Amino acid sequence: MPGCLFCSIVSGDIEATVVRTGERTIAIQDINPQAPVHVLIMPREHIESVAGLTPAHADLLVEIVQMAQWIASAEGVAESGYRLVANTGRDGGQTVAHLHVHLLGGRPMTWPPG
Ligand code: AMP
Ligand code: ZN
Repeated sequence: MPGCLFCSIVSGDIEATVVRTGERTIAIQDINPQAPVHVLIMPREHIESVAGLTPAHADLLVEIVQMAQWIASAEGVAESGYRLVANTGRDGGQTVAHLHVHLLGGRPMTWPPG
């Protein structure tokens, strides 16, 4: 998608610190980390948000979750716990309109979120 920041990262046109790549997904370090571990997991394909997901994306969702489990282990937070967040739309606080799941860990999280 022209003009999409995360499409440009997926294509390599914009640099990012890649944590892991999958067949349909990539994971990068968040540029402005909110926790000791803050990784963004995203599809290679441009999907605007959770709102754009359909049953046809079932395999993609499984890959995203498996990627999260793998990264949580690799980053040493699988036991201590972590949070997966997909901000969606304006009130959800989404700032980049390319679906991504935040993996946050390495500190206790509070609830409710702000
Ligand atoms: P959201 O606000 O949920 O859409 O999340 C967007 C996330 O992308 C934020 O946590 C930003 O810090 C992060 N971000 C923005 N630009 C970049 C970039 N160039 N590389 C890595 N992460 C980025
Ligand atoms: Zn995109």
